[in-house]
Amino acid sequence: MTNERLREYTDDIYSCMRCGFCIAQCPLYENYGWASNNARGRILIARGVLENKLKLSDYIAESVFSCTTCDYCYLLCPSGIHTTDIIRALKCELSKRDYSLDSSIRILENIRREGNPYGEPKSKRGSWIRDEDK
Ligand code: SF4
Ligand code: SF4
Repeated sequence: MTNERLREYTDDIYSCMRCGFCIAQCPLYENYGWASNNARGRILIARGVLENKLKLSDYIAESVFSCTTCDYCYLLCPSGIHTTDIIRALKCELSKRDYSLDSSIRILENIRREGNPYGEPKSKRGSWIRDEDK
């Protein structure tokens, strides 16, 4: 059963015309070079998940979670597809199905425990302020 959050973007997911304008500028695609590591690829994954036609795997999860949600693809998309929102919803869906990266879980635990993604102690939160500004 697909979660409601991903279903909210059904129109956007089906509106992707696969033009590929979003591909070359994706920093992750530059790094990995695989078709699944850019907005178009991740939207195709979202479509597969939405239609329950995709067998999930750690590789797919890594492709999705490697997206930094920098929003650059959204700025480039001529159709104005909410690429980053789709990818966020997809991450949420994969997490629900127990496909999360260890690093994501670690970040989540850090935020819950210390209120920041790095796991730095709350007591040190003012340590970056210069002494003369305290
Ligand atoms: S630029 Fe937009 S429409 Fe084109 S492939 Fe990327 S997400 Fe789809
Ligand atoms: S939001 Fe994700 S898919 Fe889009 S350009 Fe940034 S890293 Fe790539």
